[in-house]
Amino acid sequence: MYIVQIASECAPVIKAGGLGDVVYGLSRELEIRGNTVEIILPMYDCMRYDQIWGLHDAYRDLYVPWYGGSVHCSVFCGWVHGRLCFFIQPHSSDNFFNQGYYYGGLDDYMRFAFFSKAALEFLFVSNKRPDIIHCHDWQTGLIPVMLFEMYKWHGMTNQRVCYTIHNFKHQGIAGADALWGTGLNNDLYYYNYDRLRDNFNDTAINFMKGGIVYSNYVNTVSPHHAWEARFSDISCGLGHTLELHQDKFGGILNGLDYHVWNPEIDPYIAAHYSADNFAEKAINKKALRERLLLRDADKPLICYVGRLDDQKGVHLVHHSIYYSLNRGAQFVLLGSPTEPAIGSWFWHEKSHLNNNPDCHIELSFNEELAHLIYAAADIIVVPSNYEPCGLTQMIGLRYGTVPVVRGVGGLIDTVFDYNYDDSHLPEERNGFVFFQLDSNALESALGRSLDLWYKSPKDFRQLAIQGMAYDYSWNNPGDKYMAIYEHIRHK
Ligand code: ADP
Repeated sequence: MYIVQIASECAPVIKAGGLGDVVYGLSRELEIRGNTVEIILPMYDCMRYDQIWGLHDAYRDLYVPWYGGSVHCSVFCGWVHGRLCFFIQPHSSDNFFNQGYYYGGLDDYMRFAFFSKAALEFLFVSNKRPDIIHCHDWQTGLIPVMLFEMYKWHGMTNQRVCYTIHNFKHQGIAGADALWGTGLNNDLYYYNYDRLRDNFNDTAINFMKGGIVYSNYVNTVSPHHAWEARFSDISCGLGHTLELHQDKFGGILNGLDYHVWNPEIDPYIAAHYSADNFAEKAINKKALRERLLLRDADKPLICYVGRLDDQKGVHLVHHSIYYSLNRGAQFVLLGSPTEPAIGSWFWHEKSHLNNNPDCHIELSFNEELAHLIYAAADIIVVPSNYEPCGLTQMIGLRYGTVPVVRGVGGLIDTVFDYNYDDSHLPEERNGFVFFQLDSNALESALGRSLDLWYKSPKDFRQLAIQGMAYDYSWNNPGDKYMAIYEHIRHK
């Protein structure tokens, strides 16, 4: 099968969070299974050019229709750790992807409406006719709309679209200008409740809704989150749309790329280990302590790695720092704030805790350091407000770092409580789960994990090793995506 992934991220060249990991890992898995896979991405000025091999121009003069005229673009091509990627670079005074960030501009909806248009135009003029176009998140929601309303009539009749929603929080709310820019134009037609009109704002269109309505198959990234999306308010107003399209909606758990996330070969950690020589993990703990100037003592090390966003339960992340310190543990936080208010809060905490030999707060995005932290820590906390899938708990499990998670979304599909999970045998349990979104609930689970570390180190070690035995690779999700592609391809 010939599959084209279109997304705003692909790790490690463009990564703000889990989306990048998923686009890369899924593409790799699909290629291993004998498919041809290409990835189309924006060419951001701030992406990691050092992670691209053989970058060259593949299509020098791509003229993308935009409003009444066109925007001159170049398409570059290169390999990102073996995956063939095309990068679209517009030469326009709008400076779409030359702003020093991936997301966060007021014009984001126009930047990605343009990217969607350019990606489709590139496929069209370069005569690429994939069997499957796989789009991700709101940034590419207009692609199936344009494909089935416009490009189909230009001859792209056999393409089918799988649309994956990684996060319902950001949906791409725009005005008619996005329709006029992309050439969809007919605003009366698209401002229909059954098409793109936002469910709660009559004056706006919603890219993600367009993706749901027009794609051949829609999924979110875990079975439990798919259920939450339909039956709770977590889909941020799209519940009814999902209900209407329930026959083509499902949940597929993300996988982890076990070539990237593997403590037996990870180039960024101090000592390689597996379940068979688990004791070697301690060398990583020592290395991290040295690197971050933490004291070397017989204490458990707790970590948080992730974006610092309301979604992630930041107040509980904050609480877990002080709770851990009070219980005599060490805490390492690696986080990228997504809002200035959260940023200044954690900078403030950092300055307070700067000289504490048991705590380190690192406020940046640092892929290499993240690997060492996963390998070094004993416990990882993931107290999310909501979590479509969550990769950090799965990475923790892979690295023998026991997860303490809130029981929502993909977290509940992957972590099974040591004390209370009746549906799993004791030898199948792998972490600690709490449910309420308050500090008492967090303390009850984090407290139980610390009790086990202090009072029964052997049992704690056994729990960590049980977690390592889980297969959260792309193996199973790869089967599921292939089945979906096959299914929609023959429609
Ligand atoms: P989300 O997609 O909501 O950000 P996930 O748990 O699905 O969360 O994926 C997070 C991914 O991003 C993981 O690979 C994690 O290691 C990585 N990550 C998040 N924040 C950082 C950071 N500040 N530094 C390094 N890696 C990070």
